[in-house]
Amino acid sequence: IKSEVALQDMDDLAKTSFPLCMRHLFFKLREEHHLKHGGRQQLGLFLKGVGLKLEDALAFWRSEFGQKMGVERFDKEYAYNIRHNYGKEGKRTDYTPFSCNKIILSTPGVGDHHGCPYRHFSEENLRAALGSMHLGVRIVDEILEKVRNRHYQVACSLTFEATHGSQTIGINHPNQYFEQSRKILQ
Ligand code: SF4
Repeated sequence: IKSEVALQDMDDLAKTSFPLCMRHLFFKLREEHHLKHGGRQQLGLFLKGVGLKLEDALAFWRSEFGQKMGVERFDKEYAYNIRHNYGKEGKRTDYTPFSCNKIILSTPGVGDHHGCPYRHFSEENLRAALGSMHLGVRIVDEILEKVRNRHYQVACSLTFEATHGSQTIGINHPNQYFEQSRKILQ
């Protein structure tokens, strides 16, 4: 049985154990109190995979979206989709979190924050994002070299290794990144 995570630990976990794609979505949501549909799906299903219970997921999204649009509108327009992702509405499908492949192949538009930063950020933005994870210039250059050669998951694996001081067999899923990270840091 997957262990549950507490809502109040989420900010710390985002800083230490989320891959860059989810870290970016998480802090954009915290900053703008809104995410478009693609971002809500990518982050929402990841958090479900991390072990966030439905009630906590609803509380989390409500506390962010509510700051911008009020909780009533959130409950009316957005809560359904979250329950749906947890298999509590519609066909009751238990949706699974997106893999790296799916995220890398997605096509975020203007104002979207989903996707894979290694694939979808400009070099300048990616350099800044990696810098904010306290990575040195040399490792950032190495990561950017992988990105130029379109080895996005290798770039993500290098980031993991540099931030955890530990080898990885290779990143192919954001939730695998998270689980490997918890094993090392817990
Ligand atoms: Fe996220 Fe995968 Fe991209 Fe890493 S390689 S940032 S886990 S989509």
